[in-house]
Amino acid sequence: MWRNEYLIYLLLVLGILSISQCSPKLSYHQISNRQTLEQFASESNVSKKFKACADPLSYAPYDHLLHPTRTIRINVHFMNSRSKEHNFNGEDGKKYMKNLINVANDKLSRNPKMNLPIGNNTDNLSPQYKYKLWPIDGENDGYMYHYDDELCFFVNKGRNKNNYNRDVINKYAIGTDSILNIFVMPHHPDSLAKGYKASSTGIALGTSLKLAGLCENREKPWKYSTLLNHEVGHIFGLRHSWYKNDGCDDTPVHPNCWQPNDTEKCKDPVSNNMMDYNNSQMAITPCQLGKIHKTFAGINNELRGLVVPDWCQLDKSEVIRINNNDVWSGALDLSYNVIVSSGSSLEIKCRVSMPKGSSITVEPGAKLILDHCKLHNDCGDEWDGIKIIHSKQDSAYVEYHGDVLIENVREINLN
Ligand SMILES: [Zn+2]
Repeated sequence: MWRNEYLIYLLLVLGILSISQCSPKLSYHQISNRQTLEQFASESNVSKKFKACADPLSYAPYDHLLHPTRTIRINVHFMNSRSKEHNFNGEDGKKYMKNLINVANDKLSRNPKMNLPIGNNTDNLSPQYKYKLWPIDGENDGYMYHYDDELCFFVNKGRNKNNYNRDVINKYAIGTDSILNIFVMPHHPDSLAKGYKASSTGIALGTSLKLAGLCENREKPWKYSTLLNHEVGHIFGLRHSWYKNDGCDDTPVHPNCWQPNDTEKCKDPVSNNMMDYNNSQMAITPCQLGKIHKTFAGINNELRGLVVPDWCQLDKSEVIRINNNDVWSGALDLSYNVIVSSGSSLEIKCRVSMPKGSSITVEPGAKLILDHCKLHNDCGDEWDGIKIIHSKQDSAYVEYHGDVLIENVREINLN
């Protein structure tokens, strides 16, 4: 009898021992605000590197989980005189612009290698943005026709020059805080009568764009697709790139030749960059794409409103898993959960918007460095904050420098 009791006792002790050895003994904490940051992270004084969030290259879309394809909402206004004789009418206009927009999106997505400088190694990244026609329910199908003798014409030279005038935009543009309004305008017939050429041209004005010469020239729509891409480039902050002062080191200075010819000035190859005047206008450099994505990420920039805010919903089909020592030096609007893996580190230097219900998990043995950054939800919702996991052997390590803002976090009990 005594032997049996002893055996049961022995089995019980062995059982408890084996359970305690198999269980991972993890503990969880949540960093949800400044107070819990100070409680669970350590402060370190490192001054912020100048320009950390300003450099366009910090926004170049190398990683498609950090930079998913953005959609720019657009609509189209056909301006015409009351006689209806100066521009596309009815289905013709829709068909023409639909084709032009499709080709423009296709050409954007192709982004070929830069021709210049000769022998360059400039990356040709996927641009990660596109246009989408944006009808307003019950009001329009995205294409609008206006008959206005006073405001319908475009004049870019001479006494009556009106290309910078915004009257037509102020009168007819709709939803300008969320839609890029494109005005397809005819050149003025009086100017044309004086020998002025009906050039295909455009001008970017705030969140709207005027295009002229499309109807007069009756070229195939694909011919003007790169004009649209060029002008939208201007809207989102790109300058002409044959000059030195365009803010990008990967766009060389050159004579801006339309195509190669026998002259010394325009010998083969000439530029194929989107922001020059040439017969290709298709190449966009990492710096140029960075500038565009930096504008998308500009929290106080009115142009950000033109982009569909896909970052508001948590997409569980992917996870951003950090397996190296990564640094995020540009502002980001994420759609996914983030996990910093054991043995890896992530340093965040700017603003990051996290989708509703998402979190940044720091595994045992991983390190998260918050450097003068802001973590928040840009959509008026709440996210689940930073989850730190300690194991018996290893701790998750969070370090912060200077002003770190953690906002819009829902407090949850992780244990
Ligand atoms: Zn231009």
